[in-house]
Amino acid sequence: MMEGLLHDDALQTRFLSVEENLKEIRERIAEAALKSGRAPEDVTLLAATKTVPVEVINHAIHLGVDHIGENRVQELLDKYDALDLSDCACHFIGHLQTNKVKYLVGRVGMIQSVDSMKLAKEISRLSVYQGLSTDILIEVNIGREENKSGVLPEALDELLDEISTLPSIRLRGLMAIPPVSDDLSQTMTYFSKMYEYYVDIKEKKSDNKRDHIDVLSMGMSADYAQAVECGATLVRVGSSLFGKRIY
Ligand SMILES: *Cc1c(COP(=O)(O)O)cnc(C)c1O
Repeated sequence: MMEGLLHDDALQTRFLSVEENLKEIRERIAEAALKSGRAPEDVTLLAATKTVPVEVINHAIHLGVDHIGENRVQELLDKYDALDLSDCACHFIGHLQTNKVKYLVGRVGMIQSVDSMKLAKEISRLSVYQGLSTDILIEVNIGREENKSGVLPEALDELLDEISTLPSIRLRGLMAIPPVSDDLSQTMTYFSKMYEYYVDIKEKKSDNKRDHIDVLSMGMSADYAQAVECGATLVRVGSSLFGKRIY
């Protein structure tokens, strides 16, 4: 999984490519933000760091990446102490089992993959216990895919209402991973639907002081520019930034 210390030359080469990739990604995000009538700084770049060695992640952080996301609990724990998180927010973005929540509360500022009341309750319970507050996003199964995490769109409202009653949990918005497709116009249809749900709950929840709905997390390496054009406020980019993953 983790490659350990890379050979110096290999590491330098990788550092350089991350730097170049980051520049290009930021340019594309800025362009797409302007297209959607927003300022480039209104869109957050989160680096998806699965399989990426800690030295490379820390280099990205030193280059200015200020949000990272891991999607496996064990991998996050393996890397956690070596990550330089003083100026960087750490998110959890993968599928989460209730019995693993205890490893995340207090370590990550935001859990993006909440899709059940059971999970939300456990995040709330452990946050209360630790005297802190955890930000969450609700993951929506926008493509209605079997075997995929996320709530179905029609179940969203009820879950949002239930979650709003929980202490020490702050609902910040929605996350989605649309079905894999080569057809970007199809993907954009899903992104646009997500944007509608986001605007809906933003309006509905704005009178609830506890919640501050300001995050729509969608778009990955293949489609982050399209996601931003459709209204994403946060994109999760892995391989375009760090290179192809070596498992
Ligand atoms: C890996 C991952 C990403 C990034 O994927 P890339 O296609 O490599 O950019 C984004 N979101 C989640 C939830 C992931 O697990």
